[in-house]
Amino acid sequence: MSRNYLIAGNWKMNKTPKEAVALAEGVRKIKAGAGIRKMIAPSFVCIPAVVEVLKGSDVTLAAQNMASVEEGAHTGETSVLMLKELGVESVILGHSERRHVYGESDELINAKVKLALSHGLEVVLCVGETLEEREDGKVDEVCFRQIEGGLSGVSADGMKHIVIAYEPVWAIGTGKTATPLDAQTVHKACRGKIAELYSPSIANSVIIQYGGSVKPGNAAELMAQEDIDGALVGGASLDADSFAGIVAFDV
Ligand code: PEP
Repeated sequence: MSRNYLIAGNWKMNKTPKEAVALAEGVRKIKAGAGIRKMIAPSFVCIPAVVEVLKGSDVTLAAQNMASVEEGAHTGETSVLMLKELGVESVILGHSERRHVYGESDELINAKVKLALSHGLEVVLCVGETLEEREDGKVDEVCFRQIEGGLSGVSADGMKHIVIAYEPVWAIGTGKTATPLDAQTVHKACRGKIAELYSPSIANSVIIQYGGSVKPGNAAELMAQEDIDGALVGGASLDADSFAGIVAFDV
């Protein structure tokens, strides 16, 4: 089965609204090859301005996070209702910075996943091991736990709106990239886990992105791996030319 590629830029806490508009304009102009989808995830406060830039474009607009409940006394949180009203289509959940800096558990992430799906958002669910867990031989154990925990209660139909991003924590923002073969091994194992939890055909259709210091110079060899269906890009997505260099991995 042939899957499409998804190249997503996670802008994290970078770019003011004016800078975000300029970058979104640059991303809008990037011509993606057949079967390659572009996505950007600006910070919450930049979303209203970026929505205007992306109107009528082929770029999917994502948020970087959302609250696990719809509304109420949750100072500093952002609701799925607010994101939907603005026109956000996808949400990144369980990013390693949310897990390891802000202490988000699989249970909390799972609540967010189910809430996002119930409101028709696509979910990019991030999983990945720390360096210590890799050195202890626990890569599969950690990724499987995060997949199973994050997807608990998600139906086979809900899986149509799930993307998995494998992001080894030690490779994020460090300049260290998993070798294409190492990444492929984990992607294949994660796909196997999804087959076990759902079915081989669902596993075959799920997009599994790689994330961790992806750049124009290493995108092609990563994307050439059988089970790598795109990239979740941090640093290299903050410049339209460098993001374009990743989107153009197949030329
Ligand atoms: C990320 O933030 O998801 C990421 C992979 O960052 P970077 O590309 O900078 O490693």
